[in-house]
Amino acid sequence: MAMRMSSLFLRTLREDPADAEVPSHRLLVRAGYIRRVSPGIYTWLPLGLKVLRRVETIVREEMDAMGAQELLFPALLPKEPYEATGRWTEYGDNIFRLQDRKKNDYLLGPTHEELFTLAVKDLFSSYKDLPLSIYQIQTKYRDEARPRAGLLRGREFVMKDSYSFDIDDEGLEKAYQQHRDAYIKIFDRLGFHYVIVEAMAGAMGGSKSEEFLATAENGEDTYVRCDACGFAANVEAVRVPAPEAVTVDGLPAAHVEDTPDTPTIETLVAAANSNHPRADGRAWTAADTLKNVLVMLTHPDGTREPLAIGVPGDREVDEKRLTAQIEPATFTPFEEKDFAQHPTLAKGYIGPGVLGADNASGIRYLLDPRIVAGTSWITGADEPGKHVFDLVAGRDFTGDGTIEAADVRAGDACPSCEGPLQTARGIEMGHIFQLGRKYAEALDLQVLDQNGKLRTVTMGSYGVGVSRAVACIAEGNHDEFGLVWPRGITPADVHIVATGKDDDVFTYAEELTRELEANGVEVLFDDRKSVSPGVKFKDAELIGVPTIVVVGRGLADGEIEIKDRRSGERRNVPTGSAVAEVLAEIGG
Ligand code: ATP
Ligand code: MG
Repeated sequence: MAMRMSSLFLRTLREDPADAEVPSHRLLVRAGYIRRVSPGIYTWLPLGLKVLRRVETIVREEMDAMGAQELLFPALLPKEPYEATGRWTEYGDNIFRLQDRKKNDYLLGPTHEELFTLAVKDLFSSYKDLPLSIYQIQTKYRDEARPRAGLLRGREFVMKDSYSFDIDDEGLEKAYQQHRDAYIKIFDRLGFHYVIVEAMAGAMGGSKSEEFLATAENGEDTYVRCDACGFAANVEAVRVPAPEAVTVDGLPAAHVEDTPDTPTIETLVAAANSNHPRADGRAWTAADTLKNVLVMLTHPDGTREPLAIGVPGDREVDEKRLTAQIEPATFTPFEEKDFAQHPTLAKGYIGPGVLGADNASGIRYLLDPRIVAGTSWITGADEPGKHVFDLVAGRDFTGDGTIEAADVRAGDACPSCEGPLQTARGIEMGHIFQLGRKYAEALDLQVLDQNGKLRTVTMGSYGVGVSRAVACIAEGNHDEFGLVWPRGITPADVHIVATGKDDDVFTYAEELTRELEANGVEVLFDDRKSVSPGVKFKDAELIGVPTIVVVGRGLADGEIEIKDRRSGERRNVPTGSAVAEVLAEIGG
């Protein structure tokens, strides 16, 4: 049945919603696709639901084509399986928890590894049952710290999640590749410009992992790519190529110098150059200094732990890279009260002298991989107004380990070929993981192998952000007037606009609607009689159906107008060939 604007459950808005930060959010609300219920929680109106269903259909078709089987788990889940894997605690504030009338704990599923693992354990027992890939398209719940940008980061959202089960690593690799290929087909059909980047396995605790990022200037994810060798990775997953350790033989001894009023790297470098110039005539730069950044970790069980991170002074600690490294813990910057609790720390002059589990502060100290044995640094001497020069890693200090937390920048060396990296931003649309045996072990999923011995199954987990895809497509397909849907995603194939007061116009537009529908075309018909043509045209542009047919004054001369929403091109066609012309236009 055609959707008729006279009765459609829709109100378009002339004004942008006050809370909208990005075009997709603004336009999806204004054009009547979604309505906000609460932060990060949205209602799908009829037009929006059509688009969501179209995206779901594309995802479903490609998952079915690769041989995955669809099923559906509940969203309301008991605590126990998540306790068995540790995620009941690890998820911390990020999951919605609730209790039933008997005070039993439940959660709203943020992702379903546990349930899929248990279902396979429940039904299968032999290697002959494998390989298996199963999936669902389902509503997920995450109490995101910062729900934003409408559907892009919701607290309730639709995800396609699939899971593969194999007897050995070879099988897992194959399932992973099949999913990767299916995802390429899905994202091609959705019309995305995207990149496939190496990713952090993160809280899922797996090994190999890649993300599909839709390229977008305002995306939340930053990735790097190397045009020389094709390497691409989410910045979270970039491993800095560590220089070779060098010998400490013959390096000058460390010496403490007065450097009053130099609490920042900038002031320190200036003071070092004027008061303590280098013997070789080269100027000191920020890269010669070692900056020690203190953060306070909060572990999932609520315990707090200070952490010191040493990075070259020309780098910052990158929030996302650090977050990815310390997950499931979270961090906050060190505050005055934290310093007060650690009197060995001289703020602005903190050095390796007091840092480390075995030193005065007892604070765990992790170093950037560039700080290899034999490198010399200017760094804090742990007394206000003093720095130590020629402090050599491996000779004068060591950390408790290394950490990939320093920012990654355009021009940095590619980890695989040393060529210069480029940086860009994107929106994470899909994520594929080789989970390995973590969940199968925690939940004891074993099957009999060829020799009749019990073997732990190996798993993969694969997600597509279905509701996020709707926003992401809108993000990449709009102009100043409104949305411009790609063919495969649009809520209707054609938007027929009847203008004026003439009954003939409305009668003909009705007829055209019926005929197109008989040909399998989905029609949105603006049959409103008391609305001006200007308002109708504005609505049509805002709603963004890619083909607009105007039935109006031209009808008297036997013509209608077909307009391409994207190019703005319009042409008149005789009514006699209208159906054929529209079918040709929409590729039907
Ligand atoms: P992000 O890093 O954006 O928080 P994630 O890595 O936590 O996402 P996954 O657990 O990999 O997400 O989930 C699979 C897919 O689900 C993601 O690739 C993304 O497309 C989608 N997704 C995740 N969180 C949200 C959300 N809050 N709102 C909408 N879609 C989401
Ligand atoms: Mg992810």
